[in-house]
Amino acid sequence: MTTEQINKIKELALSFGFECSENVPLSRYTTFGIGGACPLMIEAGSEQGTAELVREMTSEKLPFYIIGKGSNLLVEDGDISMIFLHMGKAMSDISEENGVITCQAGAALSAVSAFARDKGLTGLEFAYGIPGNIGGAVFMNAGAYGGEMKDVIVSVTACDLMGNIREFPAGELDFGYRHSRFSAGGYVILSARLRLTAGDKEKISERMAELTRMRKEKQPLEYRSAGSTFKRPQGAFAAQLIEECGLKGYSCGDAQVSEKHSGFVINKGTASFEDVMNVIEHVKKTVSLQKGISLECEPEIIRRG
Ligand SMILES: Cc1cc2nc3c(=O)[nH]c(=O)nc-3n(C[C@H](O)[C@H](O)[C@H](O)COP(=O)(O)OP(=O)(O)OC[C@H]3O[C@@H](n4cnc5c(N)ncnc54)[C@H](O)[C@@H]3O)c2cc1C
Repeated sequence: MTTEQINKIKELALSFGFECSENVPLSRYTTFGIGGACPLMIEAGSEQGTAELVREMTSEKLPFYIIGKGSNLLVEDGDISMIFLHMGKAMSDISEENGVITCQAGAALSAVSAFARDKGLTGLEFAYGIPGNIGGAVFMNAGAYGGEMKDVIVSVTACDLMGNIREFPAGELDFGYRHSRFSAGGYVILSARLRLTAGDKEKISERMAELTRMRKEKQPLEYRSAGSTFKRPQGAFAAQLIEECGLKGYSCGDAQVSEKHSGFVINKGTASFEDVMNVIEHVKKTVSLQKGISLECEPEIIRRG
């Protein structure tokens, strides 16, 4: 990737009115607070402009990555030679018509859930405490407390790498456990339509408050992390297996298996990518040896190119 190519993309982004920043530490864009710098961070500001940028980066063969809240990412330290397209506040419109909420990919799940509550619509309470954006939540079919994105999605609008925009009905989204048709890459999610049902505002608020209390009680929210570090293995719970293997509190530098919830690897302060990976690898190896179960990492891992 040459400076000339990066500048060309920057000029195009600026021509759409998108904000651009150079040499941006990704630690600022991830909930783990870990990650080296990328040469260019673009704030996506419109669906059409995003699609055009994607087409241009593809035809220039420039490596790029879509980032939302960075709450399911673990990024290597050092120079990350990719352009980052941030789907955040500049693309976070939310609207409603006849019980169907349309939200752009950069809308925070908490904001969409609160919007639904204010409209007296039920079905999205489960997502209130998940610290991601709509794009990231659709990408991996985020879920909690018995609910998943797949339960509420009517359709998703996304563009492919050539910038072609298309609306995908729910039936074509191949949703599974922490999986969607977008998980393999090749698409940028631009917006989603969610169908909710009429409910009682007070009950919706109570459920959201209850789930928030449960999260605070069980999860180490006082530390930085990417949430559950391991996917739920079939027929078992990662946290329980880790605890039974005596790994609660196991640490490497400032990375630690949380003492509060063994399914979370936390950053106690200045953990490096390597510290976190060392903890993850040790946990995987130990659980595999003692329990015969292979744990799979849940966060997406971004390595230097
Ligand atoms: C404290 C804590 C608690 C959590 N609890 C839960 C939970 O209960 N349930 C749960 O499911 N998850 C949970 N998570 C994980 C995380 O919040 C979810 O996976 C969330 O959906 C990720 O969204 P994001 O915007 O942060 O995505 P990011 O982390 O920014 O990105 C994740 C992946 O999605 C892709 N992506 C993001 N946006 C787009 C887009 N617009 N188009 C195409 N690809 C895109 C990225 O390229 C990346 O591969 C938790 C995380 C934390 C830190």
